[in-house]
This record gives sequence, structure tokens and C-alpha cells, in this order.
Amino acid sequence: MAEQHRALVTGASRGIGRVVALRLAREGYAIAGCHSTASEAARQTEADVRALGAPCYFAECDVSDPGAVEEFVRAAEERLGALDLLVNNAGITRDKPLVLSSYEDWNAVLGTNLTGTWSLCRAMAFRFMKNRSGAVVNMSSVAGVYGNASQTAYAASKAGIIGFSKSLAKEVAAYGVRVNVVAPGFIETDMTDALGEKLRAQALTQIPVRRFGRPEEVAELVAFLLSERASYITGQVFQVDGGITL
Ligand code: NDP
Repeated sequence: MAEQHRALVTGASRGIGRVVALRLAREGYAIAGCHSTASEAARQTEADVRALGAPCYFAECDVSDPGAVEEFVRAAEERLGALDLLVNNAGITRDKPLVLSSYEDWNAVLGTNLTGTWSLCRAMAFRFMKNRSGAVVNMSSVAGVYGNASQTAYAASKAGIIGFSKSLAKEVAAYGVRVNVVAPGFIETDMTDALGEKLRAQALTQIPVRRFGRPEEVAELVAFLLSERASYITGQVFQVDGGITL
């Protein structure tokens, strides 16, 4: 019988995280999903994962709080068994020019996006190394690679994820653990809905394939990178962006 994989996905209630959770559940993996608030979306995703026959545990966990992260990992492993895959997907934006932004904006964005990624990796890396097996995908953004006006904090957090992931990949490779980064362009989710019609139309003119991506198109790459099919790939950054950075 094939080994049962158990994946932790942060920000699993909506958007890309929801679709990643469903995609991995279809692979037959058990799913531990966290989100920041109790919501109908979170309940629905949990129900949809369960309907696919995947064992799962969904709960609120603010990834910017390292104590809450430790507790979530402990509770998830108690219910599902040892986790061996991690997707750091939870993320927020506070788009505004630097001169209009506050220390609170900076801390919120860095806290969720970068400290959250650090906390989850910190909580799970030793387990993965001990088991001589594990794979991590951290969600960055093309903004983290190329920068973007009105996204200084967001781009800093997403660039930080890249440096963090490459360094961690070097640390843990000899223990059979791989760490990769996915950097999406514009993907159809609540995050890009919030941009408004004008900005969306402007963005479309810059995307060679002339459309936003679908969460499924990101989830497909995440599933591949977590799988044995990607066994010789680590420390890399993969853009899913419809050619926007060409
Ligand atoms: P959404 O806004 O649609 O969903 C965000 C998810 O993150 C939700 O599940 C939300 O939970 C969760 N979340 C937010 N803050 C926290 C927190 N502090 N602790 C735990 N969970 C949290 O985002 P997307 O699906 O669009 O984005 C997913 C990832 O992809 C993000 O990292 C984003 O930066 C990145 N990305 C997205 C792009 C896009 O175009 N959509 C482009 C490039 C990168 P809740 O439902 O409880 O709020």
C-alpha cells in the first residue's frame, strides 16, 4: 500500500490555499488546514476535503503567532499522525505607497507572510529532518522577485520568503527534505478581486496570455513540487504568471 502523506496547508479556507487543499486531498493525502477566522468558507472547504475521503483537521490559527502555530501543529499531528508536507500559503496585502503606510501595516504584512512562514518551518523542520523525509512549498509572489509600487511591505515579505527558502533548502537537503518556492502573478481570488476594476483592467494589458490565472493552475505546480516526481528539485523559485514578467 502506498505511504499515506499528511500535508499542512496554511490559509486553506479560501483562494489558492483552498484549491491546494482539495488538489492534495485528491492525491489521497490527509490535510491539516488552518485559516485566521472561523467562516463559512472555511467550513465549506473542510466539508469538501472530507467529501473527497481525505482525513482532515481544520482550525483557526494565526500564523503570525508562533505559539499558536506550535499548538496547531501539535493538535493536527495528534489527530492525523506525523505531518510530512508543508505549504505556507497564508498571506495578506496592505497595498499603499510607503509614505502613506504605517508601522502597523508593515508588521501585519511581515508578521503573516514572513514570520508565519518562518514559524511553520521552525515548528516542522526538525520533525522532517528526523524522519529523513519532507517537502515544503512556500508561496511568494512575482512582487517578491521584481518589486511592485504600493507593495513595499508585501514585496519585502515575499522576497524574504525566497531568501529564507533557499537558505533552508541548503540546510535540510542532506536530510532528505526539499524546500521550493512558487511565485504567482495575478490569480483569480478574493485578493485580486479587491483590486477593483481599473487596476484589474490595467494588469490585464501587461499579461501576455491576457487573463488572470486560476488557483488550480498554481495548485497543480504545488502538488508536483510536493511529490516524489520532484525528488531532485530544491531551493528553486517557480513563477506561475501568464508571462507577466517576460
Ligand atoms: P486570499 O486572500 O484569497 O486568502 C488568504 C488566505 O490566507 C485565507 O485562507 C486566510 O484565512 C488566510 N490567512 C490570512 N491571514 C492569515 C493568518 N494571519 N493566519 C492564518 N491564515 C491567514 O489569498 P490568495 O489565495 O489570493 O493568496 C494565497 C497566497 O498566494 C498568499 O500568500 C498570497 O500572497 C499569494 N499570492 C497571491 C496572488 C494572487 O494573485 N491571488 C499573487 C501572488 C501571490 P481567512 O479566510 O480566515 O481570512
